[in-house]
Formats: sequence, structure tokens, C-alpha cells
Amino acid sequence: MALIVQKYGGTSVGSVERIQNVARRVAKFKARGHQVVVVVSAISGETNRLIALAKEIQSHPNPRELDVLVATGEQASIALLAMALMDLGIRAKSYTGAQVRIVTDNAFTKARILRIDEENIRADLDAGSVVVVAGFQGVDEKGNITTLGRGGSDTTGVALAAALKADECQIYTDVDGVYTTDPRIVPEARRLKTITFEEMLEMASLGSKVLQIRAVEFAGKYKVKLRVLSSFEERGEGTLITFEEDINMENPIISGIAFNRDEAKITVLGVPDRPGIAHQILETVAAANIDVDMIIQNVGADGATDFTFTVHRNDYANVLKRLKQAQGKIGAREINGDERTAKVSVVGVGMRSHAGIASTMFRTLAGEGINIQMISTSEIKISVVIDEKYLELAVRVLHKAFDLEQAG
Ligand code: ADP
Ligand code: ASP
Ligand code: MG
Repeated sequence: MALIVQKYGGTSVGSVERIQNVARRVAKFKARGHQVVVVVSAISGETNRLIALAKEIQSHPNPRELDVLVATGEQASIALLAMALMDLGIRAKSYTGAQVRIVTDNAFTKARILRIDEENIRADLDAGSVVVVAGFQGVDEKGNITTLGRGGSDTTGVALAAALKADECQIYTDVDGVYTTDPRIVPEARRLKTITFEEMLEMASLGSKVLQIRAVEFAGKYKVKLRVLSSFEERGEGTLITFEEDINMENPIISGIAFNRDEAKITVLGVPDRPGIAHQILETVAAANIDVDMIIQNVGADGATDFTFTVHRNDYANVLKRLKQAQGKIGAREINGDERTAKVSVVGVGMRSHAGIASTMFRTLAGEGINIQMISTSEIKISVVIDEKYLELAVRVLHKAFDLEQAG
């Protein structure tokens, strides 16, 4: 007998039939004698619908109220799934995040899980029930409803698996595993049987939304056995996230290509080339609680330098406004930007021991006439910022250049 946490995403609970399908799958695991905790997302499209509704009333919805609103999506799914399970003769009980007491900090719309009170869940499991928990939501110390950021149900699943010391956390979604790149962009993409935790962390942070980054962080920290699987297919081993020491075989040089089209680039030109200037610029951005991604400072000439960085596209207008307000103080000659940039990254632990990855990447992009605007590297990834209109082309040609297609 094992304790298994299963998470089902929005498409997987997208209709009554699909919810019943999930119930049948859970029933199978139960019939084999396993204890099962199920985490569900809102029905696909529901979270977006609720956010749009809020924006019709407030262009920048109040974050506390927005969380109260969007948390209803998952609250509906858990009740429906519990009913579907009961309909199959299975004991089931649903819990919202606040009912479990998934305690988070109070950063509305992007809260972090601090701890989980798991006693009630354990008691229900021991009494033979399937426990159905709302993904994406928690409660702060003061009892306010919070949510964990888009895609946050993955994190609920993994955090519950960690708290319950589950034998496995299974993420069921609309693809049958983690692919070399998003199969919606590159149909030739190949499913990976395994991917290292470190690579998955990079892929998630660089834009592959198949797993929320915090879910991967949790899995790494608590060594949760994590697998991504299809909710539509009966069989299939999916993709197992491994820890590097588990693997004996030779790693491929490149495991995958991640991309993010939500980037915007801002350049501050002609700032005095002296200590503290980077701090002064970034402080202006950080004061608005905005995350900066890639940063480049040019070599100075004639006592002046240029400074370029990227932010999420949603923050572009705000950052530009703030910097223009501070332009005099910073002493910049000009501030400009580009809202339509995108980031493409190649990821692989094998890169550590192989030179020449960057040159293959840059040559391939040059071959298509794609200009590289910014470059950033780490031990296991190389990222470039390019014009958004070349994003799909770039992903496709790099996927081919690194031989990532399916065989045959
Ligand atoms: P869910 O609603 O189940 O959480 P998501 O839409 O959040 O599902 O994540 C699954 C989607 O992630 C897939 O449909 C796919 O388009 C996208 N995706 C992006 N990169 C990858 C990748 N490398 N491998 C698999 N899927 C990916
Ligand atoms: N329903 C939430 C979202 O759409 C959480 C999730 O699906 O993981 O972002
Ligand atoms: Mg998701």
C-alpha cells in the first residue's frame, strides 16, 4: 500500500465527463489498496473568466478580493470530484485550502506556502476516504484567503506530498509527460522518460509551464518523487523527475528548449559610469515589487554607460514610467524599451562537460537572420532575448539543430 498524491489540471477536469473520468482513475488506485489524496485545479478557462470579470469592475483588481474570487474556481472542482467519487461508491471528502489549513504568507496572488496542517487529511485517509484538496489556494495567519500564482495547483500537490511524506506525487495533465519543448509549438518534440530535477527547475523558470517552478523547488527540497503523466491516456509512464545521483547513464547534452514570450526589454542610455548606478536603477524597479530577469551593463566609454534589463511584459509600462520619473536623479540621457521581446533557452546538464553549445546556438539563429539582443548563461543553460516575432522559428530551428526530434 502506498500513499499517492495526484494532481489534475484544468483541462483534465474540464467537463462533467472528464471529472467522472478522473474519479474512475482515482477509484482504480483505491481498489489496489492505495491511499489517495487528489488535488484539483479549476475547470479550464474558469480562472481566466474570473480574472476578466474582476477587471471589468476594477482595472487593477484589489489583490485580496481577487484571491477571494479566483479561489472559488477550485472550490467548485473539489466538490464536483468528491460527488463523482461518491457516485462510484467511494468515500470522499473535499477540503478548501483554508479548511486543510495550507498556511501561506500574505502576498496575495503570489503567496508562498509556509506549512500544512495535515492531521485532518491523515485521519480521513486512515478512515478509508479519498481526500480531495483545492489546488492553488491557502490561507494566511489572519485567515485571509490567498492564492499561489498561476499554475499554483502543481505546488499544492507537491507541497502536500512533502507534508504527508507521500510515496509519489503524480501530476496529470493534457500532455503525457515533459517534452523536449512545448509540443504545441514543435509537433516533433519528444517525451523525456526522465529529466533531472535541476533541468526541470531551469525549464520551469525559463517558461515551460508544464510544472510551476515552485512545485519543482518543493520537490527538490523535500525529495518528492514527482512524475508528469497524461490524464487522458490509460497507460504510459510519463516523465519522472530524477535527482542527478540517481542516474548512471550518459546524460544528453541538451535536454530541452524553453521559451517565454512575456518578456519586455528596457534600456537606460548614457548613465554615469560610477559605483552604485546599477543599484540606483534597479532600486527604482524593486520599490514597485517588480522582478527583473536578465541584466546587462555595457562597457563604459567617456565616463558613461548603457544598462539593459528585462521584466515581465505586464510590468513594462509601470517600469518605464517610474524610470522616466527618476531619469533626472539617475542622470540618464535616454530611456527606451521594447515590449515585444521573447526569451529562448537551451537547457541540459550535459552542457557542463561540452564546449561549443553556445556557438551552435548562435550560428543556428544567425542562419535564420535572427538577431540576438541579449545573452545570459549558467552552468546548464544558455538564454537569448530576441524579437518576439521570431520566437517560434527560433524554437523550431534550435530543436532541430540539437537533434531533439523523435526518432523515425
Ligand atoms: P494543467 O492545466 O494540467 O496544469 P498546463 O496548461 O498548466 O496544464 O501545462 C501543460 C501544458 O504545458 C501543455 O499542454 C503544453 O502545451 C505546455 N508545455 C510547455 N512546455 C512543455 C514541455 N516542455 N513539455 C510538455 N508540455 C509543455
Ligand atoms: N486555476 C489556476 C490557474 O489557472 C491554478 C492552476 O490551474 O494550477 O492558474
Ligand atoms: Mg498548470
